Amino acid sequence: MTTATSTSGAEATAAPTFRLFIGGEWVDSTSGRTFESRNPADTRDLIGHFQAGDAADAARAIRAAEVAFQTWRRTPAPKRGEILYAFGALMAEHKERLARAMTREMGKVLAETRGDVQEGIDIAFLMAGEGRRLFGDTTPSELPDKWAMSVREPLGMAAIVTPWNFPMAIPCWKMMPALVAGNTVVLKPSSDTPHCATLLVELMAEAGFPPGTVNLVTGPGPEVGDALVASPDTQIVSFTGNTQTGKRIASIAARRLKRVSLELGGKNGIVVLADADLDLATDGILWSAFGTTGQRCTACSRVIVEAPVVEPLLERLERRARALRLGSGLDVTTDVGPLVNGGAVDKVASYVEVGRRDGELVTGGSRATGPGLEHGYYFEPTIFAGVKPMDVIAQEEIFGPVLSVVPVPDYPAAVTALNQTRYGLSSAIFTRDANTAFRAMRDFETGIVYVNAGTIGAETHLPFGGTKDTGNGHREAGHAALDTYTEWKSIYVDFSGRLQRAQIDNQPD
Ligand code: NAP
Repeated sequence: MTTATSTSGAEATAAPTFRLFIGGEWVDSTSGRTFESRNPADTRDLIGHFQAGDAADAARAIRAAEVAFQTWRRTPAPKRGEILYAFGALMAEHKERLARAMTREMGKVLAETRGDVQEGIDIAFLMAGEGRRLFGDTTPSELPDKWAMSVREPLGMAAIVTPWNFPMAIPCWKMMPALVAGNTVVLKPSSDTPHCATLLVELMAEAGFPPGTVNLVTGPGPEVGDALVASPDTQIVSFTGNTQTGKRIASIAARRLKRVSLELGGKNGIVVLADADLDLATDGILWSAFGTTGQRCTACSRVIVEAPVVEPLLERLERRARALRLGSGLDVTTDVGPLVNGGAVDKVASYVEVGRRDGELVTGGSRATGPGLEHGYYFEPTIFAGVKPMDVIAQEEIFGPVLSVVPVPDYPAAVTALNQTRYGLSSAIFTRDANTAFRAMRDFETGIVYVNAGTIGAETHLPFGGTKDTGNGHREAGHAALDTYTEWKSIYVDFSGRLQRAQIDNQPD
């Protein structure tokens, strides 16, 4: 029995070295190269060394997944569902350990990493149930003595390429529907969160997924990701990440007409009308803008406010943002953890410089320093006022704790401002007027709309995804997820004993 960690190779420090998981075995990469994962709250904390997989490792994993597919596809779906159920139960048993490891590796506070694990549990249980549903249709035939039905079929090997901001939930959102439908998977996680992926796959192996059904290849996106996407043996590519990478992946996959599901960037807005409960709106905005340090695809980065309430709302937002406590997410008194890495700090800082030109800095605007923050990637919760809808900071995804307040004269102007973006993931409105709320549900061009709540808080049994440059029309979670991981087969059974021809109108009675 092999294990996820090894004592060989580049293990120069006390931190463990982790391995790839291919064909049911924990193995070293072909090249023997490794890379480090460190705690963004304190970069002196080395989590471990991880295999820098490459195209050769991707090929090994694809082969293992292909072999396993032949058996897994014929395993009765309810039996597949039982293994998903066992995995969900293991995640629940290990929830606290997983959440702590996640906070240590990518920084968000414990309450949120517990939520991330919980999303994984929820989708595992939801999709375990699909093992006993996976509904198709039976429908009358237009001909006598003929039976007609449709069934869902798996496609084969699914390449699962995932980001670091939901390092357990997103892989589960993709792998659970893929597996219950009878596909096999190769997971390529973000190089910022290889430990989270390793812990997940350890539990999947323990839950009883047969060798080769689940494979893990860590390593650089351009090497491992490209190899997975380009392989003729990959049938499905399921990717979550930034829009630029997504477009690149889609163009490679299109050459072989692969099924590609893309969940990409966002520039999510909250509309606050003059009749809104401003305290409630402040709660929703704060949570959506600065939760996960603004690094959610559904994070709110634009607040579009009717003119009469701009000042009272800004006063509340500024006071509350200034009171947020920064620190390690493992400390229960922390509200906002670090950004994920140094590149993210530089990116946020450069957008803040642009924001100083476009709007008026209300609070924040700098890298955060002070006792306990010296060794981490901290940035102050930042608010700009007086931003115009087409300003750069109101248009581009910053993916950090930066909020723009955009004043508008009325509801029609708010709708125009909200929709005037290339993205379409999540949106929200705060109003006490039921009629206006229903108008917003109709008018907002996003895949997700919240009324009197922030832009975050998706539940796993509803479809999740966005319009425009946020994706390519697929949805994760809910029944909708199965559409990515299955294709339809229509079956006709003629029990008339004679040749009957559909659509030919000279049939004998
Ligand atoms: P990213 O840089 O696009 O990376 C995502 C994944 O793609 C990582 O595993 C990365 O590997 C891999 N990758 C990078 N280059 C690749 C290539 N050329 N070919 C194949 N794979 C490649 O995104 P991120 O910074 O991790 O995540 C943040 C982005 O994700 C934001 O834009 C956010 O909005 C989006 N997001 C969207 C949703 C949604 O549901 N719509 C949810 C969460 C996040 P390496 O880490 O090794 O580079």
